[in-house]
Amino acid sequence: MEDMIQWLHDAPLWQTTLVLLAENVLILILALVLGQWAVRRFEARRVALPALPLQRLEVLVTISTVLGNTVTTLLGMFLWRAGIITFRTDVGVWAWLDVLVLLLIMDFAMYVLHRLAHHPWLFAIMHQLHHRYDRPRPLTLFILNPVENLSFGMLWLVVIIVYPASWLGMSVYLVLNVLFGTVGHLGVEPLPGWWAHTPILRYVAGSTFHARHHQDLECNFGFYTLIWDRLFGTLRKDYFTTMGELPTWVAAESKTVPS
Ligand SMILES: [Zn+2]
Ligand SMILES: [Zn+2]
Repeated sequence: MEDMIQWLHDAPLWQTTLVLLAENVLILILALVLGQWAVRRFEARRVALPALPLQRLEVLVTISTVLGNTVTTLLGMFLWRAGIITFRTDVGVWAWLDVLVLLLIMDFAMYVLHRLAHHPWLFAIMHQLHHRYDRPRPLTLFILNPVENLSFGMLWLVVIIVYPASWLGMSVYLVLNVLFGTVGHLGVEPLPGWWAHTPILRYVAGSTFHARHHQDLECNFGFYTLIWDRLFGTLRKDYFTTMGELPTWVAAESKTVPS
């Protein structure tokens, strides 16, 4: 690990750009492979209508999102080289605690940014594109307006400028971030039925949680937990009772073809 960190610090720009681009392409591939496997495995527990045939726009936007993610990663690397971002290299209990801290900070910060993105002044230039797809599939995670993608990327960089987390904590957090994002766009629920009735666990977001946001733009703005939606009154009322199900009000809308 030390060698890799040293390499990132010293390597020429073209080499780091290629490696960070490859890393972001790999994240895309892993998310899609894992996602498509889960869609087939849990097909019996549909929470959203099956996705429509793939559009050329989705492919183009996905390429733009991977490039945008690479820009954010490169910017983070420059800020680290400039000493503005620092991180710790410990791997003990504090490093693992960072995962929880980062999840909670980012969950709140992204809840706020997501609600702002839904403001009528910002929705069209930031977030409307993501909501063209109310029948999510794993690829929908990457259907982001570049403005939206870079805003969330900058938010992450600001958080790690302010909070000097461990390398281990940041890495595990980033893996979980992709995992939550992928699960949120499966359109099927991999979490078991008892999840919604188990204290504490029921506040951890699954697929149903974000699927409902795609179906009803007024609710469920959180990403990893239900905490902020619960606190600010934006949790959909039937969330717990319809977890793992395709509600009748969604099935009834299946005749309307998204624009
Ligand atoms: Zn939204
Ligand atoms: Zn989404």
